[in-house]
Amino acid sequence: MTEPLSIGSAYHKGTAILTAKRDVVEAVKVAEACYREEMVKARLLPEELPLHEANITMIKNMLTAQARQYARDTWTVLKPEVEFLVELPNSTHHCWYFHKFLEAAYPAVVPSWHQCNGAFSIEGRTCLQPHYLRGRTDGVLQWNNLVWILERKTSGMKQNIFWDQWYLSHQLSGYVYGVRKSTNLPVHGVLLEKMPKPARNQNPSTFDYSPEREPYLRSEADLAEFEGEIIAIADDYERAAQRGRSAFYRNPQACTDYNRRCEFWEACKRGRVNEGEFRQRDQDYVEEAYYTILNIPNPAKKEAAIASA
Ligand code: SF4
Ligand SMILES: [Zn+2]
Ligand SMILES: [Zn+2]
Repeated sequence: MTEPLSIGSAYHKGTAILTAKRDVVEAVKVAEACYREEMVKARLLPEELPLHEANITMIKNMLTAQARQYARDTWTVLKPEVEFLVELPNSTHHCWYFHKFLEAAYPAVVPSWHQCNGAFSIEGRTCLQPHYLRGRTDGVLQWNNLVWILERKTSGMKQNIFWDQWYLSHQLSGYVYGVRKSTNLPVHGVLLEKMPKPARNQNPSTFDYSPEREPYLRSEADLAEFEGEIIAIADDYERAAQRGRSAFYRNPQACTDYNRRCEFWEACKRGRVNEGEFRQRDQDYVEEAYYTILNIPNPAKKEAAIASA
């Protein structure tokens, strides 16, 4: 289990309830259950337990501080959560990924990648597709006569530079772009809330967990630039996927990002992955979207239904 990620997701589950209902008791309960579920999956050693119990206490303290702040907030929640799946304009191409999904759905019918060139279609389904942007955000709020997406981060970073990293952030631009396109709400930007995390040498029970906030605006020009950049990134990524493993290079500047050693560090140093070293992730909302767009049943869902019957 990756500790900062587990703290982040438990905390997010709790704050989602705070935004929607302002119910701190339920928020704490749900966040704790979420963290404990991760603990069970991780099969921890007994000596690791105290650290995780301390993390649960910290998450509870965070949510209590948050609830205190939310009781004073003057915004109106327009939507507690938005999921979006929007087309990127002028990006239609012979899509490597859609081609693969069609091949799996119609084995022996779909021509090979090189023979297809996007001309293939079956029952109205085709691999000639635009890029899509898929995402999910927390609350959309009306605050000070503007419309904002509320995005929360937990961070132990105290320096002002924490705030600088979001001015150009594709993640925040993508939220504004996606929510605008899918809801038609005139979203102006992202209100970023940082929940401070105590450092190892700070006492987590006396630490001040008051959240800090900063608004980040996105203009029409910013969003147009984002649109062009995200299409270029998707093109690059897809070209690499077609070429295969040799096109994916390591990114060693990131090995110690977030003050931790990357989970893949041993494998990257070794230059190969050992048998059974990693578990492949389950299908997520990205794969799900391909089935939705192609309107074909998702085989993973069918298997899950059979297994639970
Ligand atoms: S260790 Fe992680 S961050 Fe470093 S190169 Fe490998 S995958 Fe990238
Ligand atoms: Zn594609
Ligand atoms: Zn094709």
